[in-house]
Amino acid sequence: MNNNCKILILYENKKFEGAIKYTFDLVMNILGLEYEIASFDKYDSSNLSEKLIISYGRKNPQINSAYQIHICESELFWDNYLAPLSLPVTPLNKYLDLPIIYQGTQKIESHIKNLNNSIGTDIDIVASSFFMITRYEEIILKDRDKYDRFPATASLAYKEKFLDRPIVNEYIELLWKWIDSFNLGFKRKKIWNDKNFAVCLTHDIDEIFKHKRLPLFSVARSIKEKNIKKAATIFFDYLKTKLRLKEDPYYNAFDYITNLEKNYGFRSSFYFMTDGEQYSLKNKKVKNLIAKFKKEEFEIGIHPGFNEFNNIKILKSRKNELEEILGEKIIGGRQHYLKWKISESWKIWEEAELEYDATLGFAEYEGFKCGICHPFKPFDIQNNKVINIFEIPLIAMEGTLTTYRKLSPQSSLEILSKLLSTVEKYSGVFVFLWHNSFMTDLFTPEWKKCFENFYKIISQKNCSVTSVKKMLNLWKK
Ligand SMILES: [Zn+2]
Repeated sequence: MNNNCKILILYENKKFEGAIKYTFDLVMNILGLEYEIASFDKYDSSNLSEKLIISYGRKNPQINSAYQIHICESELFWDNYLAPLSLPVTPLNKYLDLPIIYQGTQKIESHIKNLNNSIGTDIDIVASSFFMITRYEEIILKDRDKYDRFPATASLAYKEKFLDRPIVNEYIELLWKWIDSFNLGFKRKKIWNDKNFAVCLTHDIDEIFKHKRLPLFSVARSIKEKNIKKAATIFFDYLKTKLRLKEDPYYNAFDYITNLEKNYGFRSSFYFMTDGEQYSLKNKKVKNLIAKFKKEEFEIGIHPGFNEFNNIKILKSRKNELEEILGEKIIGGRQHYLKWKISESWKIWEEAELEYDATLGFAEYEGFKCGICHPFKPFDIQNNKVINIFEIPLIAMEGTLTTYRKLSPQSSLEILSKLLSTVEKYSGVFVFLWHNSFMTDLFTPEWKKCFENFYKIISQKNCSVTSVKKMLNLWKK
């Protein structure tokens, strides 16, 4: 053992050591603390140099010569692993108001026992965190919506009403509280230099032009609804853009977005759709747009099509095509419709040499789908290994608030501000998505005000507002 190491983590369950080590790595990385990890039987008490032992197992190794936190292991990493029987038993027990997803097999009254220099708990923060960050339930439950996505309403976080809380971060803070209570002088590293947290504004470009072809269908529908005025507006809007008397609203939106962001000194990420169905990357206006974004230091990323979430050949060729036009490497992006298959899509993105994905949020509800507001490396639970890519969880999308939840601009702003403060509290990354194609009839003066006010709120916080690419560079340090 390294003598300088101050925290030693010991685990009992060697059969699942891959999953256990992975989870502790993630937790300790967010805390920014140095540690070593070994199994119970490798531990040699005669050579003890560590100040603090964190033990994880069904039995307590009872270490007397050091400070100790013992986390009693639950039944997740056991015989029923990946079977329905391994899912959490609901309703969940709670410690104060913190839901306990998995509880240790040796129950402790009031969940935490404090004795001299040791703390024992039956809140299995390891299994509970692992369950959230791996999206474990999606592998087992068969629920899917009409787009073949795992619905928010089938998730434990929704059912137990904690989707608006980064519960993994809450577990991590609890562990820190225990560590800090011994007064051993451990200090957490600051992640964002002089800033408290990070904000990544992102834009999926599903469409570039609203008026591609004569809107016969919309005109006919308006006539059928006996709304002649609407039919005429649609038709003349089309005509005016074709005659170049008016800018196309989707295209025009890019200036609006980038100007708004540049005014605050923000930079965001634009993800280009690559399936060629709505626009071609070879279109001159599209190429100009990419060049303009690059010059102004916005990030260009990839937004693969609806059916491209599980096809490595297509992903690789689309990525190459976009890179050729951009003239540099693409490092990440997001899947269209937030369509993602656990763990297959992560593996495909890893194989395509992408560094990050920012898809993992629910379309129908804002919040913390993975229970965490920090970048993390996913774990392939079927093959028991870490996937070499970063997941940057999506926290909120404008379509969730408007189309799915049908909220007013006022309540949307309240929700966004609340989520932003939550991410600030945990020094995380607030990832927000809004589309240029939102800025048409839907973009009423009230919605415009909602977005502009939200940007203003962000600008008043002590946070770093950059592209995902830049944020990730800071994170990796
Ligand atoms: Zn999309």
